[in-house]
Amino acid sequence: MVGVSRRNFPEDVAETLTPLADVTYLSPSDAGYIDALGESDAVIVGTGRVDGAFLARAPRLKIVARFGVGYDSVDVEACTARGVYVTHTPGVLSGAVADLTWALILSLIRKIPLADPFVRSKWAQRREPFPFGADLEGKTLGLIGLGRIGAEVAKRSQGFGVKLIYYDVVRRPELEKTLGAEFADLDELLRRSDIVSLHVPLLPSTRHLIGEREFGLMKPTALLINTSRGSVVDQRALIRALEEGEIGGAGLDVFEEEPLPLGDDLIRFENVVLTPHIGSATVETRRRMALVCAENVRAVLKGEHPPNLVPEQRDVSF
Ligand code: NAD
Repeated sequence: MVGVSRRNFPEDVAETLTPLADVTYLSPSDAGYIDALGESDAVIVGTGRVDGAFLARAPRLKIVARFGVGYDSVDVEACTARGVYVTHTPGVLSGAVADLTWALILSLIRKIPLADPFVRSKWAQRREPFPFGADLEGKTLGLIGLGRIGAEVAKRSQGFGVKLIYYDVVRRPELEKTLGAEFADLDELLRRSDIVSLHVPLLPSTRHLIGEREFGLMKPTALLINTSRGSVVDQRALIRALEEGEIGGAGLDVFEEEPLPLGDDLIRFENVVLTPHIGSATVETRRRMALVCAENVRAVLKGEHPPNLVPEQRDVSF
């Protein structure tokens, strides 16, 4: 049995697995959830937690296929100890997340979310002018994490005339050459950037990577863009930095708590643009992600090695 715990996973893609196994859609609120999990040889999961307790309810499980590239919600160590493969969907969503990153940058710098309601209400009354935005040309874009998504953001920067700098735990000499990206250490990047954009995975080493100290280093006009994971930023420190004018604004697709609670302090800032974790949410990208999940599940059901194991399992074979 294959358990799909993602409501909008395309049925026609799920059906491609039926020659090998029955497919059932799982939701923790369904009456038959525990039984179905108990019978599952494979699960396709969204952002729900997969930990020791989950594994204990799924004794037959051979693969956790994560619908997405970030797998901080999956306890990989516990899966490895149980002989369960963990796969993800690297690469196929990088372009969509990079597009959204640029959408947030452009929205903030040209005040698009304020401009739209202005046209619908105040413009025709000619009482107040719309405030100026800023040019991108000549600004410095600092990318923290120059992996698959960071590199796509960097590629898209080429037409805007920005100076590109990056910080990563791994140097990318190829991209330094082809994209003119300059390496900088974290503090230097924060001091120099007009726009700081985050593209690291959520790991113990990146949790609250950007907090009070880091906001203190940024320019008072700098924009922070986060399309990685909410907890890479200390959200309380971000709110304080916005209140005190330590930075110029923020564009956020991800939050420490999702959905972002109504009434959250972030909602009151005009210089903050918010999107509901939609980095990969395009028709084409979501379909590609579903196909990759199915491919990984199919391989394991056939007794083969799945093609998209997470890096921690690259050398394992169960
Ligand atoms: P990737 O592994 O290709 O790139 C991550 C980069 O971060 C790597 O170059 C790595 O060396 C670097 N890195 C790791 N730890 C670091 C540290 N402590 N300091 C500096 N750099 C560090 O991953 P990717 O495919 O580019 O995805 C990045 C993340 O984006 C995912 O892990 C996920 O959390 C997030 N994401 C969000 C959405 C969304 O909907 N908003 C969609 C997809 C992915």
